[in-house]
Amino acid sequence: MTPFAYERASDASAAVARVAAQPGAAFLGGGTNLVDHMRLGVAHPQLLVDVTRLPLSRIEPLPDGRVRVGAAVRNSDFAADRVVRERYPVLSQALLAGASGQLRNLATTAGNLLQRTRCAYFQDVTTPCNKRTPGSGCSAIQGHNRDHAILGASEHCVAVHPSDMAVALAALDATVVVLGQQGERSIPIADFHRLPGDTPEHDTVLEHGELVVAVELPALPVAAHSAYYKVRDRASYAFALVSVAAVLDVVDGRVSDVRIAFGGIAHKPWRALRAEATLRGAAATEQSFDRAADAELNEARPLQHNAFKIPLARNTLRMVLRHLTAGARR
Ligand SMILES: Cc1cc2nc3c(=O)[nH]c(=O)nc-3n(C[C@H](O)[C@H](O)[C@H](O)COP(=O)(O)OP(=O)(O)OC[C@H]3O[C@@H](n4cnc5c(N)ncnc54)[C@H](O)[C@@H]3O)c2cc1C
Repeated sequence: MTPFAYERASDASAAVARVAAQPGAAFLGGGTNLVDHMRLGVAHPQLLVDVTRLPLSRIEPLPDGRVRVGAAVRNSDFAADRVVRERYPVLSQALLAGASGQLRNLATTAGNLLQRTRCAYFQDVTTPCNKRTPGSGCSAIQGHNRDHAILGASEHCVAVHPSDMAVALAALDATVVVLGQQGERSIPIADFHRLPGDTPEHDTVLEHGELVVAVELPALPVAAHSAYYKVRDRASYAFALVSVAAVLDVVDGRVSDVRIAFGGIAHKPWRALRAEATLRGAAATEQSFDRAADAELNEARPLQHNAFKIPLARNTLRMVLRHLTAGARR
């Protein structure tokens, strides 16, 4: 591991100034991803600014019905929060589907959002990887690509985004609140993570030195009818092969509102706008669910080893919609 300095921040603006001033500096959350990368030689920060003691550990319902979740809230506390469980079950379920109890006790909201891909080539410094070393090539395209993207990939990168939590946030239209040297800005979650294009080294639109301070959940009564389904190789401690976060409202047998996001199939949480458009106003039936899956997955471009993700995504979507329809109030 390359030697590095460690500082504990007590003021958010000072932390921003400190990291922004030094290209080799990085914020440290729970360290469950960044420290692994330092051990593997994937990341070499010269300065770590620990932001877990900043006053960003609260989950606050706001007067207008939104909920503000501090960037330093631990994943376990986020999942267990009563307001989150009652108003956004998809989010609580997604958090609990991630990692292990011990990891969730350390991992923070911001760190979870910003965790990097689990592509084996990204994590193996002996292999070419455009995300780790721009211009070196993508080993996964012709390699072991069972876990990789089927939508939105590029000739430069086929990695997938790993966070379960972020998939639920995408379905909920959450907002990421960021503090930079010019002050705060709010970024819709749909615009926060990027597709790889020809700059796969950038996972998000964050500038160096920008600090995530909170995630805001919209006032969304329909989100009480939501669920997260994750398919993985083991029952725990494994990343998604495919996951689906869905919010569904059915009135008189017809879909009145629906929000869907897929995980495990793209470089960012994949909001399924085509599937949603197909479902809105349609009868809540298996035929409609199939049409919705077709609308979204017809664009899928599988690699040599991951064509199975297309039927897996279809079946997972169908299962979660069936489950939510059965539990519909009206
Ligand atoms: C064995 C194992 C299994 C796992 N399984 C899953 C899984 O199934 N599903 C899943 O979703 N995750 C899984 N994870 C990943 C885990 O969820 C992440 O490691 C964790 O969420 C990262 O949070 P952290 O606070 O520890 O981040 P850190 O490691 O501290 O930081 C991650 C990144 O975020 C940046 N950062 C941290 N805080 C801020 C901030 N406030 N503003 C700006 N940048 C910041 C850091 O600089 C770094 O780049 C697993 C991890 C392990 C080790």
